[in-house]
Amino acid sequence: MSSAVWLRSRGLRALPVLFASVLVACTPRPSAPPPPPAPTAPTAPSERALPPVPPSAPPPTPEKLSDIERDAVLFTQWRAGHAADVEAFESFLTYEKVADVVPTYQLLRSASMWKECKAEPFEIPPSAMWPMVRDVLLLVRELRDQDVLSSVEVVSAYRDPRLNRCAGGAPGSSHQQFAIDIAPLDAETGRRLCAFWRQQGKGWNMGVSRYPTGRIHIDRTGYRTWGASHKRGSSYCLQE
Ligand SMILES: [Zn+2]
Repeated sequence: MSSAVWLRSRGLRALPVLFASVLVACTPRPSAPPPPPAPTAPTAPSERALPPVPPSAPPPTPEKLSDIERDAVLFTQWRAGHAADVEAFESFLTYEKVADVVPTYQLLRSASMWKECKAEPFEIPPSAMWPMVRDVLLLVRELRDQDVLSSVEVVSAYRDPRLNRCAGGAPGSSHQQFAIDIAPLDAETGRRLCAFWRQQGKGWNMGVSRYPTGRIHIDRTGYRTWGASHKRGSSYCLQE
């Protein structure tokens, strides 16, 4: 019996048992340890530094900021070959009541460099990471509920260790647990996001950064911020 059929036959009441057993059965990958409890000191940022954009640089074009290729149509084709796994992932999100926060096709987008890295356009995180997926989605929902963010397009999320290395991620990149990069925000939204991070980010164990392209990174693996130099001091959240 496939896991999807088993899921349907057992119903949602069986889900806690199922996922508990999945979590026990799946040994976490060595490169993806469980998240730290609640680091309070600024820690090293987790992704490669990119060169800063000069103040006079023109804003990036929208085509570079969102991901128009990895859309719902491409995802429909991809999921045909991963039907049972996608269904199990979505069942978990439904059980956790976070299935409506971000469309699945965005939530499963791998690295933006998936083609260069000969990876797949979408990737399902290992089940051991699903609680982190839930936790990030709860934060996104809170950001919406507080009118910090209105619309969110996730352009990159989980990356397995090989893809993370190829895409230039640091060995400890939070994308190997689960993190999201979202399409750039306008300046006012960026200010609201920083204000949220300063006032409430610690309680959410929230990491936030903005890359020179304007892309925003959000995770829940530690209360920290960084910017173009990959150091705390370069964070746009500390420059206001
Ligand atoms: Zn990121």
